[in-house]
Amino acid sequence: MKSQRAHEKVFSFEFFPPKSDEGAEKLRKAREALATLKPKFFSVTYGAGGSTQTRTLDTVLEIQRDARFEAAPHLSCIGSTREHVREILELYRRNDIRHIVALRGDMPSGMRGDPGELRYANELVAFIREETGDHFFIEVAAYPEMHPQAPSYQKDLENFKRKVEAGADSAITQYFYNAEAYYHFVDCCEKMDVTLPIVPGIMPITNYTQLARFSDACGADIPRWIRKRLEGYGEDMASIRAFGEEVVTRLCEQLLDAGAPGLHFYTMNQSKATLAIWNNLGLKAG
Ligand code: FAD
Repeated sequence: MKSQRAHEKVFSFEFFPPKSDEGAEKLRKAREALATLKPKFFSVTYGAGGSTQTRTLDTVLEIQRDARFEAAPHLSCIGSTREHVREILELYRRNDIRHIVALRGDMPSGMRGDPGELRYANELVAFIREETGDHFFIEVAAYPEMHPQAPSYQKDLENFKRKVEAGADSAITQYFYNAEAYYHFVDCCEKMDVTLPIVPGIMPITNYTQLARFSDACGADIPRWIRKRLEGYGEDMASIRAFGEEVVTRLCEQLLDAGAPGLHFYTMNQSKATLAIWNNLGLKAG
């Protein structure tokens, strides 16, 4: 964990672009509540196959203009072309966006087909650098519990290193509930001379059914003891939230004490759970 202690701590919050007016209103309230914590930036996800392209940009612009915060759009390349990615980068540049989360993405379920001209995130990062030099601060994804499609842990590490060598500035991890997996990942990276900030992605626990579904899909492990406790609460949402808050607060505490260079919260466009964890940790606004 030595390499991580040297970095400044960065706190950030992730949103997804809303699909309806009601969703937009909910997001605005969450954003206003979380803005009081003065994060370094907000990030906005990008739908598989570019399905949310306009909404991602609109949400980013709203954060920049109305809230005057730095906002980073996610950008995935699977199924796309160099020309299309070039257009998006140009649009982002014109709108004074300087921070991007560069991802491969996943093919929408049920769609197989052509992976496109940029097949992996390292190719996207290299392309962004080729096209735009140092204009963007580039984040990439990291997987302390291994990406579900990787042939082995070692290969996944090597692939992570490719993205870093292609020009990434910082990384955000997939969420996890086992701090040891993160420490081990960071130590393996250090051994390969990969020392960029690797910021833990934090998923607050508010809804067990939804969390279990997500975790299956993205290969994030919910430790047995946590699963059993959550299952035992059944429909008792208040107990799920209280237990989730306690578990995730302790995880964040351990990570920060060990030298993690900040935290990136997957807010799911809600502020309550993230605010509660933040307050429990005694963190100060920006
Ligand atoms: P890559 O780094 O390309 O890795 C994908 C797989 O390919 C891994 O198994 C890796 O080991 C392997 N691999 C990588 N490079 C090579 C290579 N050169 N040759 C052979 N194999 C290789 N998804 C969205 O659709 N929209 C989002 O907004 C979004 N945001 C995310 C934010 C974060 C912080 C994280 C952690 C994930 C996010 N995802 C998002 C999910 C992500 O798109 C998926 O996890 C996807 O499956 C992998 O994307 P990646 O950028 O990590 O891919």
